[in-house]
This record gives sequence, C-alpha cells and structure tokens, in this order.
Amino acid sequence: MTLIAALTDLLGERYVVTDPAAFAGHLEEERGLYVGTSPALVKPENTQQVSDIVKLCGQFKTPFVAHGGNTGLVGGGVPKDAVVISLERLNHIENVDAMNLTMTVEAGAILAHVQTAAVEAGAYFPLSLGAEGSCQIGGNLSTNAGGVHVLRYGNAGELVLGLEVVLPDGQIWNGLKSLRKDNTGYDLKALFLGAEGTLGIITRAVLRLYAQPKTKAVALIGCATFNDALKTFHSARAQASDVLNACEVFSGFALSLAEKHIEGAKSPIEGQHDVYMLLELASADANADLNDLMETALTEAFEAEWVQDAVIAQSGPQIDAIWALREAIPEAQKSEGGSIKHDVSVPVSSVPLFIERATSLVVGLISGVRVCAFGHLGDGNIHFNLTQPENMDKQNFLDHWTKTNQAVHDLVSQMHGSFSAEHGVGQLKTSEMKRLKDPVELDLMHKIKASLDPENLANPGKVLPPQD
Ligand SMILES: Cc1cc2nc3c(=O)[nH]c(=O)nc-3n(C[C@H](O)[C@H](O)[C@H](O)COP(=O)(O)OP(=O)(O)OC[C@H]3O[C@@H](n4cnc5c(N)ncnc54)[C@H](O)[C@@H]3O)c2cc1C
Repeated sequence: MTLIAALTDLLGERYVVTDPAAFAGHLEEERGLYVGTSPALVKPENTQQVSDIVKLCGQFKTPFVAHGGNTGLVGGGVPKDAVVISLERLNHIENVDAMNLTMTVEAGAILAHVQTAAVEAGAYFPLSLGAEGSCQIGGNLSTNAGGVHVLRYGNAGELVLGLEVVLPDGQIWNGLKSLRKDNTGYDLKALFLGAEGTLGIITRAVLRLYAQPKTKAVALIGCATFNDALKTFHSARAQASDVLNACEVFSGFALSLAEKHIEGAKSPIEGQHDVYMLLELASADANADLNDLMETALTEAFEAEWVQDAVIAQSGPQIDAIWALREAIPEAQKSEGGSIKHDVSVPVSSVPLFIERATSLVVGLISGVRVCAFGHLGDGNIHFNLTQPENMDKQNFLDHWTKTNQAVHDLVSQMHGSFSAEHGVGQLKTSEMKRLKDPVELDLMHKIKASLDPENLANPGKVLPPQD
C-alpha cells in the first residue's frame, strides 16, 4: 500500500488532495520567495487523526509540515517534498473558563475568532497582528508571534499556559494545563513555542485571558528624530505604564508611502515630521479619562521639545484611522517597488542608534536606497526595510538582498540584538542561524531536534541549518 492510499483510507478522499494545482496556495506563501513540492495536502479533523497521519509518514519515511493560516513570511511552511497537514478543521473554541481567565482552543482556530470568543465571554485575548483574520493559534504559537500588544502582554508564547502536541513519532503529549504555577520540572511547552513545526504539531492550547479594555486613547505624535521619540516613550511610560498598550514608530518616509499608495490614509497632523510615534492607552475602567492621561503623559515631552506636534484621537473612527495609517505601511511599501527586509530587535534603548548606524551602512552599500523603518518601538523590534532607489531596476536592487541582510544582521549582533524578532527563521534565515547563533545554543537545538525527531521528518530544513 502507498502512503497516499493509507492516508485516503484514514481520512477519506475528500480530505486528501494530491493534484498540486488544487493546493497550489499551500505550496508557497504571500511573498512568493519559495515554491514547494508535496505529495499531498491532508485535512485531519482531530488530534487522533493528526497522530495517525504522523505515524503513517514515519512508516513511509516521508516528511510532514503543519499548515496554519499560511501567513508566515519566512518560508517555514513551504513544503520540501513533505505532506502538508492543514489544521483548518481543528478550529473549535472548546472551553472558556471566565473565572480562571483561560480558554482552551484547537490549534486551527483563527486568531480573530479567538479574540471574538474572548470578548463574548466578557474577557480579552490580547494577541493582535495584521494577519489576524487568517492566521491560526497553532501558527501563532509555533512562530511565537509578536504584534502590537507585546509591550503590555508579551509575545504569543507568554499568552499560553498549556499545550497538546503530536510528537514526531506520533505520540500525543497532553500538556493542557491551565495553571499559573507549575514547577514540576522542565517547562516542556516552551520547546514548541517558536519551533515552527520542527519538533511536532500543536493541536490544542490553553490561552491566558485578561480583563477586557473598556476605554482607549490613541495619539499620533510627530518628532524630529527617533531619539526624541524614544525619550517621549520613556517619559510617557513613567506616567502611564499601567495602561500603556502599544508604542509604534515609523519614519516620515514610511508615512509618505502610506499616503501615496493607500486610499484614505492621511496623517491627521499638519506639517511633516521625520519620525511619527503612535501611543495607545487602554483601561478596563470604563470611567477612566485616558485622553486626559495621554495629555499628562506627553507634557514633559512637549516641554522638552521632543514632540513637535501631536493629535489625540477624539472618537473611535479617529482611533481606527490612526491605526490604519500604521497598518498601511507594509502594503504601501510593496506598491513602491522592490524591498529588502529586516525583522530585527535590539534593546529598546538602542533603537535610535541602531537606525542611525544601519542607515549609514545601507546607504554605503546601495546608493540612493530609501530606508522605510517602522515597527514596535516599545519592544525594540524594528522592521528595517529598504525600498529600491527610484531609478534602479527592481531585480538589480533585490540582488543586494543577502549582502545587505548580512551587513545589517552583523550590526544587530554587535548591538546585542536578534536578526529575527517576530517572524521566525523558516528557511529564509537558516544561514544566519549558522553565522550568528551562539554555537553552544545551536548545538543544544540540534540535540533536542535529534532526540525528538531522529528521522528528521518534522518540517526538515527549517529553523536549523544543516550540520557540518
Ligand atoms: C499582513 C501580515 C502581517 C503580519 N504581522 C505580523 C506581526 O505583527 N507579528 C508577527 O509576529 N507576525 C506577523 N506576521 C507573520 C505571520 O502572520 C505570523 O508568523 C503568524 O503567527 C503565522 O501564523 P499562521 O497560522 O499563518 O502560520 P503558518 O504560516 O501556517 O505557519 C508558520 C510556521 O508555523 C508552523 N505551524 C503552523 N501551524 C502549526 C501547528 N499547529 N503546529 C506546529 N507548527 C505549526 C508551520 O509549519 C510554519 O513553519 C504577519 C504576516 C502578514 C501576512
């Protein structure tokens, strides 16, 4: 019997797709950096079926790769002759324990549905990112996704208390605990957070919930430099840290691209500034006067002239419009032509110096390159993206990708940062793992992988570089 016949016996014909044209969308991801190959896309409906599929892959020595919403950006889910296991049918919100502030969900639940279910239960699940309408909780945990509320609530990995995982040999590990305290040995769930499916397939999770914010204030702030923005953030944090929800930053150039390419995107601030910062406050207290607190939080920065101008949104639609401006930047950058991307982090205090030094570096490498820096200032995570020079051929520009990445990542390393802050490693950055990761850490990772997956069938070729 062939693997396909065995999979079809297990799942039925409807849930085993073998014509590559019928699952072309699962063979590449949004940016189209890699195109994969796969003998089949399979769609299990429960954990037991995931386990059975993984066991069959083991018997036939065929690799497998888990697919969530396929919104990853680093080639992590692009199969290399691997069976694609879609989690889309494991999409149930199984239980909300409002008194324990936890929620048990299947891994294929879409992030936006999880957020809505939390609100319906009078609670709040804070993970929020641009792809939330299609990415899945399993994918979020496997990439340890970040997003806009990390400043207050942490990354996806900090929002989970328990996991159920199908291990590479098909065993089901039930670690679905909903405890805040459990010191009984190693924290095994941590192994699977950010593992990008290389150590097994997450099938269920117990998520942490929080009190639902009832009031919000959002300000858009114009500054002359990233250093002024950092000082403003630091000063505002001292005043409002209890309710500080997000701190985003973007260059004047990034904003100009949003206004140029995205319909309706328009800065509410008169005049132009070299740097813009978005601050959000949120409180569970329905009577909190957060606009007033925002003004207080910005007073020192105005007096010190770190802030040139600021607008505090006066209504829900104005809040949405300011956020839409920030969210428009990646799409706008795409419309401007080729871009070379860096998803990096440095200590928050080093962000302005990093942007200054990285800018001189890339301008020296590509004459006329336009730096489109934006990201999560409060987390020290900058998308240091480069837009092609106006008169340069797109492919000629993109040919500089590796050299530029290496130079910027070397700088990040010197500044004690990370060359992959929130999007993961996938296959895009395995060579950087080899170049820049501490050899002892890398060796430990290889040992963990070999111990859990000696046949190297769980998403091979991702995260870890080949060993010499
Ligand atoms: C418009 C846009 C905005 C984005 N914004 C952000 C952002 O702000 N912050 C951020 O961190 N990321 C962001 N991303 C990247 C992406 O959305 C995240 O990495 C997301 O967490 C991926 O979830 P997914 O379900 O789409 O996973 P997929 O793309 O399907 O998979 C990603 C990786 O996880 C593995 N995987 C998926 N499901 C499982 C599972 N159940 N068990 C084990 N492994 C699994 C896959 O094999 C793959 O290696 C953005 C992407 C887009 C397109």
